[in-house]
Amino acid sequence: MDRKDFSSSEEFALKLDSFDPLAEFRSRFYQIPGSIYMDGNSLGLLSKDAEETLLRVLDEWKTLGIGGWSRGNPPWISYAEHLGRLESRLVGAEPEEVVVSGSTTVNLHTLVATFFKPEGERRKILADVLNFPSDLYAIDAQIRLKGGNSRRDLVLVESRDGHIIDEDDVIDAMSEEISVAVLPSVLYRSGQLLDMERLTREAHERGIIIGFDCSHSVGVVPHYFDKWGVDFAFWCNYKYMNGGPGATASLYVNKRHFGERPGLAGWFGNDRSTMFNMDKAFDPAKDASAWQIGTTFMLSTAPIEGSLRIMLEAGIEKIREKSLKITGYLMSLIDEMLSWEPYNYSIVTPREPERRGGHVGVGHEEAYRISEALKARGVIPDFRPPNIIRLAPVPLYVSYHEVWQVAQHLKEIIDNREYERYPKQRGIVT
Ligand SMILES: *Cc1c(COP(=O)(O)O)cnc(C)c1O
Repeated sequence: MDRKDFSSSEEFALKLDSFDPLAEFRSRFYQIPGSIYMDGNSLGLLSKDAEETLLRVLDEWKTLGIGGWSRGNPPWISYAEHLGRLESRLVGAEPEEVVVSGSTTVNLHTLVATFFKPEGERRKILADVLNFPSDLYAIDAQIRLKGGNSRRDLVLVESRDGHIIDEDDVIDAMSEEISVAVLPSVLYRSGQLLDMERLTREAHERGIIIGFDCSHSVGVVPHYFDKWGVDFAFWCNYKYMNGGPGATASLYVNKRHFGERPGLAGWFGNDRSTMFNMDKAFDPAKDASAWQIGTTFMLSTAPIEGSLRIMLEAGIEKIREKSLKITGYLMSLIDEMLSWEPYNYSIVTPREPERRGGHVGVGHEEAYRISEALKARGVIPDFRPPNIIRLAPVPLYVSYHEVWQVAQHLKEIIDNREYERYPKQRGIVT
């Protein structure tokens, strides 16, 4: 936010809300009474729309039993493809390139199992040290399954400062020994948004297949997978997509790869016209739906339908516009009020709009105890070790006034030394 049109006053926050074109969407979501929810990057809130589509599917189960597979509205048998077609509009893909299926980590497994084909000198996978641990565990397992070992075959790009990955370092690591690169779109701690277009172009110039984990960007950042030529992508639908705890995930496969045999095959990836012949031979679908494995998790998928309705109505470009403005506002408040003694909060998220996602990573040496004090004050943040408080002012349901209040809480927690009331060790889910 430009300094000249910024003020740290409460009136200014209220004014920003009064000009917010997305303000009306807030009432479509259930707010948690008495709290300010800043954790939509871990688990998005329930919307009335998502509740409605979930209840509809429950009712179909109640009244149709197994008949829901063909007579649900829409029929359950092609629900994964139906939602994939809708979601494709959020990520710049063609309708048949996206399917809502499986879990994030399982989708990573099947996609890497498909595209990682160690051959000749090309036997390695490129990833980065700051990626979400589950991704690194899965990549390590895939390397082992193909007879390799990660000490030799996993190339991890280092971070220069522990928060940011420099795209130049990634590109420098793209040697002729790399078969596949798997990178995050937005780093889960610092909130850095990588330049997926540039990385894809550089990978392809070197004969490398590239895929992205977009768990921290779909639903808050627009993607243009087809235009960029990305080979594959996968993401979860419970963060900015508000699909509910453990919601079914999604995957994207660029159509140039249709016809590749899925690494982890299963009957839901079979061509629908021959699926119920129950043949011994797998006859993969001709599009991204081939990468499904088993039966659609109907009850974990249904809320995504309502969520997508809201997203498509709001428009991903508008969502991004507010996201940049409200995260910029939060960073300005921290800079102006809280970046010096005795507060000492710092921001680890890159400043440039094109280099950040939907949350702000705030560093503080007492981050853990401050996040406990925030919770006691009714603010729901999350903490990521060793010293980052993540704050996600989700554009569809967080107001500028709430962000202003969060800044006051951050200030008062230090003014009153409130964090000192909390033990230094952490609970299991932070
Ligand atoms: C949230 C997240 C996951 C979660 O994986 P699940 O299989 O859904 O538990 C994986 N990778 C990244 C980068 C994430 O942000």
